[in-house]
Amino acid sequence: MTIKTDIAPTGAQDADDAAPLSGHSASAPSMIDPFGRAVTYLRVSVTDRCDFRCVYCMAENMTFLPKREVLSLEELDRLCTTFIEKGVRKLRLTGGEPLVRKNIMSLIRNLSRHIKSGALEELTVTTNGSQLAKLAGELVDNGVRRINVSLDTLNPDRFKQITRWGELDKVLNGIEAAKAAGLQVKINMVALKNANDHEIVPMMEWCHANGHDLTLIETMPLGEIDEDRTDQYLPLSQVRSQLSERFTLNDIPYKTGGPARYVNVKETGGRLGFITPMTHNFCESCNRVRVTCTGQLYMCLGQDDMRDLRAPLRASEGNELLSQAIDEAISRKPKGHDFVIGRNKGPAAVARHMSVTGG
Ligand code: SAM
Ligand code: SF4
Repeated sequence: MTIKTDIAPTGAQDADDAAPLSGHSASAPSMIDPFGRAVTYLRVSVTDRCDFRCVYCMAENMTFLPKREVLSLEELDRLCTTFIEKGVRKLRLTGGEPLVRKNIMSLIRNLSRHIKSGALEELTVTTNGSQLAKLAGELVDNGVRRINVSLDTLNPDRFKQITRWGELDKVLNGIEAAKAAGLQVKINMVALKNANDHEIVPMMEWCHANGHDLTLIETMPLGEIDEDRTDQYLPLSQVRSQLSERFTLNDIPYKTGGPARYVNVKETGGRLGFITPMTHNFCESCNRVRVTCTGQLYMCLGQDDMRDLRAPLRASEGNELLSQAIDEAISRKPKGHDFVIGRNKGPAAVARHMSVTGG
């Protein structure tokens, strides 16, 4: 089925995230874009593969990339290390599902040296939670302190409908294991019209009762899926005003590495974030770039411009060519995006799936 949008994208937005940045300032960031923004946050998709098929993210029948096109774990380490040397202070591994990549823990273990040295402030992961029961302890052992888990519903049948292949119990056990291992877990929920909108309140109450922040995300027009995106899109401005009728939402200046705006919910005592790429545009404070699992550097999630880093990575053993390619790409980081989910039929606003660029 065709995805409906009527726009042309132009800017930077995020699918998830939010972790407070410490007061600790970055040592002389060297990646400054044309608008004076220092790039200090890198999100790396370590695989395009996933054990789920969420309806807003992927088609059920996905063709994944051949292995030779995907960066090896060694190449991913070199790439991340080069970015850290150039001023990245926060690194998030995502995907696809990062924790299904074979030997992913060896990459995380290697990258944790940058946490130990103090070069990196935070090493973190966005996951669907399916592997957490098995891997939470090792994540903690390797310097990960907080993770984002995507969870759109607490109803097992609906979970199956949304993720197609996922099992709610497994994810809830994973979240439990992560908590027990000492990880701080933030829940990300994509707000979907007529699918989980009535679950926002129960999800918020569950999260806050269990010590998790909750961030709500608007669907973004990324990649062809089997459904009509106009049918899924729910503006968070509407959600917020409905929540305000039942709860006291106080804006708080909670500093995040991501674009979420936070409120404190008086009745639950917890934090609720809103990521609103469609109704608001916070590109002005964008500090991030993303690399796909094939080594393409996207300076903005909502734009098609990218710089290939795989060729310079593979061209020599040293990182000089890679570093030059990064500098050249940062010099053309765009000011922002402007996606809109429209009424007319048309292609996805940005052709690549979120699982390719990494949410
Ligand atoms: N598999 C992991 C997960 O689900 O957390 C990491 C990758 S996933 C692409 C990262 C985040 O992007 C998830 O929170 C997911 O809900 C979100 N996402 C995927 N497609 C999206 C879309 N079209 N619009 C908004 N968020 C999307
Ligand atoms: Fe997989 Fe995450 Fe996309 Fe769902 S949102 S299909 S879990 S990559």
